[in-house]
Amino acid sequence: MSTFVSICEVGPRDGLQIAKTRMTTDDKVRWIKSIAAAGVREIEVGSFVPPRVIPQLSDTPEIVSRVLAEVPGLTVQALAPNLRGVQNAYNAGVHKISIPVSVSEGHSRANLNRAPAESIEMMREIMAWLKAQPRKVPVVAGCSTAFGCSIDGVVTTAQTVAMAKGLADAGVDEIMLADTVGYAHPAQVKEVVRATREAIGPVLYGLHLHDTCGLGVANALAGLEEGIRAFDSCLAGLGGCPYAPGASGNVVTEDLVFMLESMGFQTGIDLEKLFEARRVLHEGLPAEPMQGQLAKAGLPPTFRKAA
Ligand code: ZN
Repeated sequence: MSTFVSICEVGPRDGLQIAKTRMTTDDKVRWIKSIAAAGVREIEVGSFVPPRVIPQLSDTPEIVSRVLAEVPGLTVQALAPNLRGVQNAYNAGVHKISIPVSVSEGHSRANLNRAPAESIEMMREIMAWLKAQPRKVPVVAGCSTAFGCSIDGVVTTAQTVAMAKGLADAGVDEIMLADTVGYAHPAQVKEVVRATREAIGPVLYGLHLHDTCGLGVANALAGLEEGIRAFDSCLAGLGGCPYAPGASGNVVTEDLVFMLESMGFQTGIDLEKLFEARRVLHEGLPAEPMQGQLAKAGLPPTFRKAA
């Protein structure tokens, strides 16, 4: 099993969507550049939703075009909630599109205004449209509320597996299981990852974890032990979901990378440079609280990067 672990920084999308203050386009581009300079190869830079829905991300088309021009080598990912968003993202030139679907009925209705089953139908249409385009752009479907929902409560493993199976059958390239509200625990992560892999094999790509109850890194470790080699995370643990009351930030990129590298899993990411990216973030968004134990503690002298 590979010892390389892929980190997708989702701060510029998941992190900024509920930030109380607005980050300017210039500051966002500076921040994205600083994350890429730390060695992060994949960044979700924004969301192709109507500007009135998430005003903080209304500059996504400009961010995409600037980052494509100014950060060579970076995989530029953007979120799109529906076919129109996918078409806009494709036309903007992104390299990869993430599409959220919700496993639970309540979150699906609140966040996406449709039933979970309708998401699978929508995904079929999206994949058919993408297949007809000249440029191949992979789709990563994010199964929101895969481990629990702040509206519906318990989400069963069977519900999550059924959604993943439906999405895989619809032809998506990759599936992320998302603990949108941060209710998961490590034993549950193992159970759901195993059951999902049994159903869809390698289409199961990674985990998107939130740290609401302090188990973000523990849940990442559980996934890692089940063979997961891709994670979404947010610098300084920004993030949340406007339609998931009580959800807090994402698992902290700095802490996650520290765990991975310490354990011998290569990420290609330099922690000192991530701290620098954290400083750039703070300059652009001074009022936003920043999370993360490693930044508080500093890099221990015993730390060695994975060889
Ligand atoms: Zn999230």
